[in-house]
Amino acid sequence: MNEENKISRRKVIAGLGATIAAAAVSPALAATKGFKGKVPDGPVKIMDPTTMYPKPPFKFQPQPWPGLQSKMDPIPDCGETSYKGSGRLTGRKALITGGDSGMGRAAAIAYAREGADVVINYYPTEEQDAQEVIALIKKEGRKGIAIPGDLRDEAFCVSLVQKAIDALGGLDIVVSNAGRQQAAASILDVSTEEFDSIMKTNIYAPFYIIKTALPHLPPGSAIIGTTSEQAYNPDPWLYAYGQTKAATMNYVKSLAKQLGPKGIRVNGVAPGPVWTALQVSGGTTADKQQTFGGWTMLGRPGMPAELASIYVQLAAADASFATGQIYGSSGGVGQP
Ligand code: NAD
Ligand code: MG
Repeated sequence: MNEENKISRRKVIAGLGATIAAAAVSPALAATKGFKGKVPDGPVKIMDPTTMYPKPPFKFQPQPWPGLQSKMDPIPDCGETSYKGSGRLTGRKALITGGDSGMGRAAAIAYAREGADVVINYYPTEEQDAQEVIALIKKEGRKGIAIPGDLRDEAFCVSLVQKAIDALGGLDIVVSNAGRQQAAASILDVSTEEFDSIMKTNIYAPFYIIKTALPHLPPGSAIIGTTSEQAYNPDPWLYAYGQTKAATMNYVKSLAKQLGPKGIRVNGVAPGPVWTALQVSGGTTADKQQTFGGWTMLGRPGMPAELASIYVQLAAADASFATGQIYGSSGGVGQP
């Protein structure tokens, strides 16, 4: 990390510490059944988004797929020390794929702090990242269940949903977030096996999971997919991945129409460049990794913690009129 990044990171941590110290439990929310989070009762400290997180250049730090975020420099911020709940998801039951790291981890931490019980899925080699998340969920007094396995396998996806329902005693939030991204300069460099892997992870797995979960989802449930700015304006080196994110955006809109009359909402989150393990484990080219996110209007990539509140909002009961929507967070570049 260069000196400027170190300084910005120190400022963030110092700022967050002060905010946490000022936090206290509001009596009304503390009385909410099962709510164990902390609610700030004073003014929220505002921070300049251009300086609150590290900026490029980043060290070139390739990892074998799927990567561990605990080995990244800087380590992505998933809200471990900063996210504060206010009981918005008390009693809810969530399944989050890719819940070990990145956006899925940020959603898992936030959901637990908002009062939900959470099952996370991840690839078996990500046990270390996953166990950190489980510990954070349990610290909130919520159920945190880890179910590792390969989402490219239909039988595993079906058993994942069944195990999640058994463990949670039902299900009312499904976050289909796991994704595979591998950069390739040319279509000639994309093997049939890699193309198949990307399609299986990003398109087939949500199909298997949502199809298995649907008969168990009560009215009021929420399904959330993670799409991307790549759905609308794909980079040339993401020929295979970009298509899958367009498909994700498309299935969100189709399913929202199909499931609206049943009272089930379906929405998507479209991140721009976010500093996660996916990017350093084959997701981007060497030069883009080092300059990652520098092209946004904030001069830096996003951190997963900055998207957590969107996953909360789309799951929360008070977002009852939001369905078929794609919520973007991309630092002023890309769409929507
Ligand atoms: P991440 O690497 O932290 O999370 C992706 C997760 O997908 C992994 O942790 C892994 O658990 C899971 N996964 C992938 N293949 C799997 C398989 N075969 N079996 C089981 N699990 C598997 O990276 P992230 O950036 O947080 O990714 C989350 C989502 O965000 C993905 O859908 C990604 O496409 C999307 N996204 C990321 C960015 C970005 O810049 N980071 C931008 C737009 C969209
Ligand atoms: Mg991971």
